[in-house]
Amino acid sequence: FRKTNQHKVVLLGESGVGKSCLALRFCKDEFTGYQEPTIGVSFLTKSMVINDTQIKLQIWDTAGQERYHSLTPMYIRNATAAVVVYDITKKETLEKAKDWIYQLLSQTSDVLIAIAGNKYDLTDVREVDKEEVKSYAEENRLIFYETSAKTGDGVVPLFSELANNLCMI
Ligand code: GDP
Ligand code: MG
Repeated sequence: FRKTNQHKVVLLGESGVGKSCLALRFCKDEFTGYQEPTIGVSFLTKSMVINDTQIKLQIWDTAGQERYHSLTPMYIRNATAAVVVYDITKKETLEKAKDWIYQLLSQTSDVLIAIAGNKYDLTDVREVDKEEVKSYAEENRLIFYETSAKTGDGVVPLFSELANNLCMI
């Protein structure tokens, strides 16, 4: 029996993939074309009800430190889940996402990991094949969704599946 149904979920991924926009879309259902780097607050919260149980997700966003490769271990400490984000229109952001996932898998055993291919609304100019990431996710037992922080597509399904899995821990 968990004393608290609150979970720390960290967002990881290269700068510009849409981490801050995803957090804002999920927690406040808003999208702003230009998302200021996080200042002051380090996370947004969102409550969900899963099987009659309330669960609170604390979505931790970076203040842009990923640009300088200086995310501290503090950021990941006590996280129960991580959402690693890439941009479907930029192949190199998938490689960076895989690096993060490799690090998470080798350093921790108890973090639930999801991979999100963001900017799904730009599918006309995609560089990353969905099926390729789907196989990679299956091999590594990761939750996988393509999302658009802009239109909201896939955002609730991603976090709902994450929350569902967290409830079973
Ligand atoms: P972060 O550095 O990973 O936090 O990325 P941001 O959330 O700051 O987003 C970077 C840029 O991508 C901004 O100009 C956003 O407007 C844009 N962006 C974020 N998500 C989407 C999306 O789903 N679709 C489109 N078209 N643009 C997005
Ligand atoms: Mg950001």
